[in-house]
Amino acid sequence: MLETATAGGRLVVFSGPSGSGKDTVLPIVLAGDPSLRKSVSFTTRTPRMGEVDGVDYFFLTPKEFLDKLAAGQVLEYAEYGDHYYGTPKDAVDAALSRGENVVLKIEVQGAARIRALYPDAITIFLLPPSMEILEQRLRARDTDSEYEIATRLSIAREELRRQNEYRHHVVNDDAHAAAARVLKILHDAR
Ligand code: 5GP
Repeated sequence: MLETATAGGRLVVFSGPSGSGKDTVLPIVLAGDPSLRKSVSFTTRTPRMGEVDGVDYFFLTPKEFLDKLAAGQVLEYAEYGDHYYGTPKDAVDAALSRGENVVLKIEVQGAARIRALYPDAITIFLLPPSMEILEQRLRARDTDSEYEIATRLSIAREELRRQNEYRHHVVNDDAHAAAARVLKILHDAR
C-alpha cells in the first residue's frame, strides 16, 4: 500500500494515449491498493455506452464547464479533441486532506500543470506495445466515429512524444501484468 505523509495523501498522475488501455489497467490497480481513490473528472463530451454520470465523469455542457472554471473549481483542465476535460478541485483537496492517494487519469497537458502544482506527484505513463496495436484497440472499441479515431490517433502520436515528461513508464502488453507493475511503482514510491 502507498504510504502517505501525515500531512495528507499523494497525487498519482496516470496518463497514456487513447487506446493504451488505461481504462482496463486502472480498475485492477485501484482494486489492488485500497489507499487509492480515482478522481472523477468533468467533461463536455457525450457519455459512451455504459458510462455513468458521477462515476466515469461528470458530464457537463460547455457553459457549465466554463462557469466552474471561472469560479476556480477546476484544478487543471485541457481541451482534447473538441471537448474540455478538467479535474474538480474541491474533491481532490478533500481526498488528499483525508490522507487518500488520489489518481488522476488525465492527458499530457493536464499532467504538466499538476507537476508544476504538486512536484511530488507520482507520474506514470502507460504505453501501448506498438502504434499498430494502439490503432487496432481504438478501432475495436467501435464507439468512436472515423473522425474521432483520426483525432485520437494524431493526439496519441503527440502524447507519445511527450512520454519523457513522466517519471515512470509501463508497457501494457497484458493488463494484469501492467497493473502489477503500476502497483510496484506505487509501493516503491514510499
Ligand atoms: P476519454 O474521452 O477517452 O475518456 O478521455 C480523453 C483523454 O482525456 C484521456 O487521455 C483522458 O485521460 C483525458 N482526461 C480525462 N479527464 C481529464 C481531466 O480531468 N483533465 C485532463 N487534463 N485530461 C483528462
